[in-house]
Amino acid sequence: ARLELVAHRNFSENNQQSLRFDLARLTSALEKPIGQEDKLEQGLRFEPASGKLFHRLGIALALPLLSEKKELLGFWVLGEKKSGERFTAEDLSLLTSAAMHASLAIDRFHLQRELLLEKETSERLAELGEMKSFFVSSVSHELKTPLASIKLYAQLLQLPPTDAMPLPPETRSEYAEIIEGECDRLTRLVHSVLDFAKTERGLKTYHLTPQSLNGAVIHALKLMTYQFKMQNTVVTTALSEHHPTIAADRDALIEVLLNLLSNALKYSGAEKQITVRTEVLESGVVLAIDDNGIGIAAEDLTKIFEPFYRAAPSASAPAGGTGLGLALVKQIADAHHAILGVRSRIGIGSTFTVCFPTSQLSINLDQHA
Ligand code: ATP
Ligand code: MG
Repeated sequence: ARLELVAHRNFSENNQQSLRFDLARLTSALEKPIGQEDKLEQGLRFEPASGKLFHRLGIALALPLLSEKKELLGFWVLGEKKSGERFTAEDLSLLTSAAMHASLAIDRFHLQRELLLEKETSERLAELGEMKSFFVSSVSHELKTPLASIKLYAQLLQLPPTDAMPLPPETRSEYAEIIEGECDRLTRLVHSVLDFAKTERGLKTYHLTPQSLNGAVIHALKLMTYQFKMQNTVVTTALSEHHPTIAADRDALIEVLLNLLSNALKYSGAEKQITVRTEVLESGVVLAIDDNGIGIAAEDLTKIFEPFYRAAPSASAPAGGTGLGLALVKQIADAHHAILGVRSRIGIGSTFTVCFPTSQLSINLDQHA
């Protein structure tokens, strides 16, 4: 709706000026140059200008710049000829063809910009699509494994007892325990996917209340008992005697612990050893989880916290996983103003640390006393 002066030479107008321009009220089809009658030779093909505006701005001739689709891109505007003479047929044909070239150049530029944008969008879409299908396949894989074992053990429990082989009560409760453990695993998976999506959309809220860090560690270890037992894991704890209290969302804190513990378990060889430590340092209250697992390559260390990122599968690492665990841990740490750290050596093991900020309530020495 406005015409803006893009560049000029020898016009007294300044660059900031713009003119209101009403396309709807335009009487001309803009197919011909528009000019002041007394500035052009007679008999030329042009549209006579209505006068006032051309006079005020010192315009003798205006050449419409039209796109290929006949959209108005602007005008090329000329003042009087220096000689004071009228524009000739030759002038007009030269100027018209120059204006056409300018229009083409602008059109091409617009097209290029559109193509670039389109390319960017399609690249981004392809990337998202790839991530999505990878995610769907890994989530369904993760869902299938526990479902298969739930089904199997439920069927075993339902087998009609034969006199020769009744199911002993210990075996029954062992099967029930497996079913329960697998259900917990499924619940955790569904939670972490939903939680991640919620945080991504800015819908996740955390309620920070005073929490005993040692208490949370003990609770998380209890929730993992079944998995530790199934995988012959030696778990050691070294919990701070200061019984640190941190400002945290209870569920989120447990989520962090469960994710780090299940990684420690998952990415370790046959002889699994996990140590959980809590410590009160000057820099904050630290939670550390050590494993003696396969370790993480230096080039992967910065990437493992990205959503969906999984280090290249190796012979010693299981294939399953969504790659969301550590991304979730990172989201939660950020929401708690906590600092995440990782140290690792291939074949030796890894240590993940979460350093919570010290607040007035972080050291509860009374409790210790
Ligand atoms: P999910 O947690 O959703 O089941 P995941 O474990 O693959 O999937 P993350 O927990 O985000 O996803 O971990 C990302 C990657 O970081 C893992 O695939 C693994 O390669 C590497 N990793 C994480 N923790 C450890 C660890 N303790 N030891 C070795 N590698 C690890
Ligand atoms: Mg994980």
